[in-house]
Amino acid sequence: MKILAITNQKGGVGKTTTCVNLAASLAALGKRVLLIDLDPQGNATTGSGADKAHLKLSIYHVLIGEKSLTEVVIKSEKGGFDIAPSNRELAGAEVELVNELARENRLKTAIANINGDYDFILLDCPPALNLVTVNALTAANAVMIPMQCEYYALEGLSDLVNTIKKVRAHLNPTLEIEGLLRTLFDNRNMLAQQVSAQLISHFGDKVYKTVIPRNIRLAEAPSYGVPVLSYDKSSKGAQAYMELAQEITNKETISKEKKHG
Ligand code: ATP
Ligand code: MG
Repeated sequence: MKILAITNQKGGVGKTTTCVNLAASLAALGKRVLLIDLDPQGNATTGSGADKAHLKLSIYHVLIGEKSLTEVVIKSEKGGFDIAPSNRELAGAEVELVNELARENRLKTAIANINGDYDFILLDCPPALNLVTVNALTAANAVMIPMQCEYYALEGLSDLVNTIKKVRAHLNPTLEIEGLLRTLFDNRNMLAQQVSAQLISHFGDKVYKTVIPRNIRLAEAPSYGVPVLSYDKSSKGAQAYMELAQEITNKETISKEKKHG
C-alpha cells in the first residue's frame, strides 16, 4: 500500500485537481484507491461528487478520534474510488487537538486500523504547513509536490522541504519525496520553461516526466462533481493524468522489484 501526501503550502497549484484526477486514473488502471480530503475547503470532496454541505461524517470525526476511517468513507461513483470527505468542520480540529497526546499521529493510526485493502491512499493537503499537514506527512510513505513553474515557486519549496526534514527527524524517518509535479504548465511561456529546467537541475529524476498542461477541461470537471476522465476522456488534461498514473505505477513496480532483489 502506497500512501502519498499531495502537498504544497502554496495555494492554487493543483493539489486537489491532481488528487481527484490521479485517483480516478489509478482506478481506471484497476488500482484500489482511497482519497482522503484533509482540507476544510472540501474541494476534493465536491470534485469527487459528494455534497460537502450535507455530510453526516467526515475526516474531522476521524482526527478527533470519534470515528474510524472506515465509518466515514463513501464512494465516488463516477471516480471509481473511495473518499474520506471533508468540510468546514475540519477547521476546528486544529484547535481541538492542540492539547491532545500524539496529535501528529491521528491520521497514521486511523489508516493503520482501516478495514479493506487499498493499493493507493492519496492525501489532499490544505495550503498550509499546519497540524493537519503534519498528520499527512506523518502518515505518508512519500510526498508528491505539485508546483506551478513560476518565479516564486522555488522560494516556497525550501520551507516545505525543511518541514519534511523535521517530520523525518521526529515523526516519520522513512518519509521520502517521491516527486515534483509540474502543473498548470504552459509550454509557450518562457519563464515556465526556465523554472522547469531549474527544477530538473536541482531535483533530477525526482521531477516526474509527466507534465500536467493548463487545460480548461480540468477546471470545468469539478463543477459537475466528476473527474476529467468522466467529463472529457480525450482532453489533454485527462490524458496527462492517465500518463501520471502510469508513471507512478511503473515506479512502484520498479521499487518493489528492487526491494525483493
Ligand atoms: P488550494 O491550495 O486552494 O487547495 P490546490 O493547490 O488544491 O488549491 P486546485 O484547486 O487543484 O489547487 O486548482 C486551483 C484552480 O486551478 C482550480 O480552479 C482548478 O480547477 C484550476 N486548475 C488546476 N489545475 C489545472 C490545470 N492543469 N489546467 C487548468 N486549470 C487547472
Ligand atoms: Mg486544494
